[in-house]
Amino acid sequence: MNKKKILVFNWKMNPSSKKEALKLFTALKKSAAWALKKGLKLDFILSPPAVYLDAINQKNKNTKIILSGQDTFYKGSGSVTGGISYAMIKDLGAKMSIVGHWERRSLFGESNKDVSEKIKVLLGNKMKAIVCVGEENRDQRGHFADFLEKQIRESLAGVEKFQLKDVILAYEPVWAIGAGARQPVVEEVEQSLVLIRKILKKIFGEDSKKIKLLYGGSVGESNIQELSEILQLDGFLLGRASLNPDTFEAVLKSFSD
Ligand code: PEP
Repeated sequence: MNKKKILVFNWKMNPSSKKEALKLFTALKKSAAWALKKGLKLDFILSPPAVYLDAINQKNKNTKIILSGQDTFYKGSGSVTGGISYAMIKDLGAKMSIVGHWERRSLFGESNKDVSEKIKVLLGNKMKAIVCVGEENRDQRGHFADFLEKQIRESLAGVEKFQLKDVILAYEPVWAIGAGARQPVVEEVEQSLVLIRKILKKIFGEDSKKIKLLYGGSVGESNIQELSEILQLDGFLLGRASLNPDTFEAVLKSFSD
């Protein structure tokens, strides 16, 4: 393995009890400790549901696992029924949050403007942002490239160059995410990442290099090795694979091969 990789474990709305969440966390802790002992160059970020953050944070001692939210509202507090703020997850141990995941965009109608507000509030409060972007369709004519440029420009609007070290961009093509999705071909991911680097350079110039780039969408033990060869990649965002200890153990083991 060449450069250090970030692994984000996004549990989404799983598991359905605190007991199961703590069990899953114990399995992750064990795997992360194994990876550390092996000297694998990996950083672990765990995004559990916000309701489990506190319990997990209390058990997250002497590990290298960094806690993250899955979403945050763009105000610290106020009249927002059902809302969870950056201040709340920060208080429970989160150092960062995912924002703009496709499920937030599609199920909750979040716009690029909403995403940009959330990023700004996270960065303005000494937290990092894991920003998800990705096209719904990969058309042969290349319209997806325009879609990506617009989505990235609008989502990162208002982010200052000095804040870019705290931005992690996760390229998650919608067609590759979740059960029943098509596994991406390495060249497709590579092509998109090259494109994303170009877009970021157009927006932020040389400072854009400070942004870390992840890939997410059907990552598992069968494709992690070949995807890891992609030079532009700083890591991965795992959905389904993060919920099964056998699978994430196998993913980690493949880094030691
Ligand atoms: C995701 O939805 O962000 C994701 C990466 O899911 P999966 O790994 O299950 O495709």
